[in-house]
Amino acid sequence: MTACPGTSALPRGSRKPRNQEFQETIVTAEPNPAATAPILAAAGESAYAAATSSYNLAVEIRPLFAATATTVADVQAILREARAQNLSVRVHATGHAAGSALPYGADDVLIRVRLEGGVAVDPEARTAVIPAGTPWGEVLAASAPHGLVPLHGSSPTVGAVGYLLRTGLSFYGRRYGLASNSVTSITLVTADGAVVTVNHDHDRELFDALRGGGGGFGVVVSVTVSLFAIDSVFTGAAFWPAAEAPFLLQAWEEWAETAPPEASTAFRVMNLPPLPGIPPALTAGPVVCIDGAVLDGEGRSGAEIAADLLEPLRRRVAPILDTWHPGVPTDVPATHMDPPDPAPFVGDHQMLKPLGAAGRQALLSIAGTAAGAHLTIVELRQLGGALAVADPRGGIVNSLSGAYGSLSIGILAGPDALEGVEAGLAALRAVLEPWDTGLTAPSFVDRFDGPQRSFDASVAEQVEAVRRRVDPQGVFGRDASYAVPAGSRR
Ligand SMILES: Cc1cc2nc3c(=O)[nH]c(=O)nc-3n(C[C@H](O)[C@H](O)[C@H](O)COP(=O)(O)OP(=O)(O)OC[C@H]3O[C@@H](n4cnc5c(N)ncnc54)[C@H](O)[C@@H]3O)c2cc1C
Repeated sequence: MTACPGTSALPRGSRKPRNQEFQETIVTAEPNPAATAPILAAAGESAYAAATSSYNLAVEIRPLFAATATTVADVQAILREARAQNLSVRVHATGHAAGSALPYGADDVLIRVRLEGGVAVDPEARTAVIPAGTPWGEVLAASAPHGLVPLHGSSPTVGAVGYLLRTGLSFYGRRYGLASNSVTSITLVTADGAVVTVNHDHDRELFDALRGGGGGFGVVVSVTVSLFAIDSVFTGAAFWPAAEAPFLLQAWEEWAETAPPEASTAFRVMNLPPLPGIPPALTAGPVVCIDGAVLDGEGRSGAEIAADLLEPLRRRVAPILDTWHPGVPTDVPATHMDPPDPAPFVGDHQMLKPLGAAGRQALLSIAGTAAGAHLTIVELRQLGGALAVADPRGGIVNSLSGAYGSLSIGILAGPDALEGVEAGLAALRAVLEPWDTGLTAPSFVDRFDGPQRSFDASVAEQVEAVRRRVDPQGVFGRDASYAVPAGSRR
């Protein structure tokens, strides 16, 4: 069994049934009454500001109290204090998904997790133990020297645990599947303060619910993931003027229909702001970007596979900028050019069926036009491949059935921007409605008040039953962010 960060002073490894239902859970440590809480900080205190800091500056995060946990004992102590005051407990790490969290209330305590200990890579077992709060960039930096790669997302600053609990769409996903399917073990502190480890053999029900079930089960303190041997990857981004979007989108979609799983790409229409680091050629007007990562496969190099897509496009229209190149895995997080610094933004997501000519026309009636001028990014992330294959060892969400995960974002550039962004998002949602699968990809959901549906009602009830079992008093009830019957929240 793996150690969890920050528990060195605690008894470890006892396999002790807590009650009949929990008999298969590994109880790593019982509640620790000696643990002292970091001060539960209130608004105005610097510890409160640190614990409520968020990547998405558009979301007001104003719980009653907030604290940063750097050890398991911190988590236990904060929980004990919150429960003593009959408060709800919320969890976040980086705030990348702040828009999808239920608004914070006057009886919420927010725990920001940044567990100490660092990423522990086992090159033989090809696994990494990731403390909660660790951004993907740190995980990749630890694994890459061993020629091993986790199924990280496009941004190196996204928290690995928050991404994995929401299934995670990687640029390696069409080859290796949902990132949450690569999780082999999760250690969490449950509402009663116990530290439990769940995996394929121990409390499989909770292990599955944690992977895509919508949160609200406890504070995850570490996750173990499988790593993949990848030493080269063809990656990059090519940009064209948005005037070429009809041709580019058609070519991309027709290629995507039969593309091999080694290729995971995104098609984006972008209205980029003139910020330092963004080439001026990309900010003169709306642009189309096709980016991603392509692995070797089927006896062909990643470059050859990518050429099937890119060469016809390049021949027809020269890109404004083209960074596709034979590279190494540590190049991949730069490909999507996600802003490293916090920004205020509002987003929306739909999981879409294949668009065809009518769907493409519908999308481009908003993206790249005046109607979508406030949308910084309208993205179609290519799904399919291994992402569409149910993994029997995967979590409660173990595959995605759509052709594309759309993710549209408007950065709020000024005080009046919200109205324009919301209008653009609503217009896009409306025109794409005929191609909406009605399902959502958990990690792409970006607003708490938007549709969130990862599974049907019977599975939702199954997940809710697990939630009731591990948290009968609903201490974490307000942290469950989607697919939760509304009545079950405190
Ligand atoms: C710029 C950007 C790029 C992105 N790229 C991708 C991508 O390529 N692929 C993809 O799939 N997604 C992507 N996402 C979405 C991202 O994966 C989700 O927003 C993810 O949930 C962020 O996790 P976090 O911990 O960083 O965020 P947070 O907002 O801190 O946490 C999100 C939620 O996760 C839960 N949570 C976090 N940590 C814990 C914990 N320790 N214990 C219990 N619950 C916890 C909480 O419910 C919390 O509300 C991107 C988002 C952004 C903003």
